[in-house]
Amino acid sequence: MSIARFWRETPRRYNLGGCRCPTCQTVYFPPRSVCPVCVNHRRSIGRMEPFQLSGEGEVVTFTLVHEAAEGFEMQVPYVMAIVRAKEGPQLTAAVVDIDPADVKIGLKVRATFRKLREEGRAGVIHYGYKFAPMDATHHPPDRPAGGTRLPATTATTTTVGSEARA
Ligand SMILES: [Zn+2]
Repeated sequence: MSIARFWRETPRRYNLGGCRCPTCQTVYFPPRSVCPVCVNHRRSIGRMEPFQLSGEGEVVTFTLVHEAAEGFEMQVPYVMAIVRAKEGPQLTAAVVDIDPADVKIGLKVRATFRKLREEGRAGVIHYGYKFAPMDATHHPPDRPAGGTRLPATTATTTTVGSEARA
């Protein structure tokens, strides 16, 4: 990906901002300007609506990476997975905060904002989303794990902004 394209798309990549077709309700990430699955897809041009992914999904397939690409050496071995967001789109990202041996197809995960890699001596640091097991992440009080409501006193909310600056 070119530098220009990376930066242009960065805010939406950070926020998992996709789009939804107003006709068939299909959700896309990254966002698209046309819905390719609609019979009359030309009708969707200019009508795609912004849609915020929840960040929740499950592992569809994964691989353990031992030979890292340049800039990722510090992280091996790590798990790269295809995650199907609960809204439909599939994303490729690392799965963290879990022993690689415990990653399984169907594992419920939640997006978390992390440092992706450092680039060269200039120390350019790229941030983006990775996925962590849902059991290991904080749950907002209105969406508790396993359907049981957490006592308000123990409920915590993950703040993306503070992680970004960490
Ligand atoms: Zn459509």
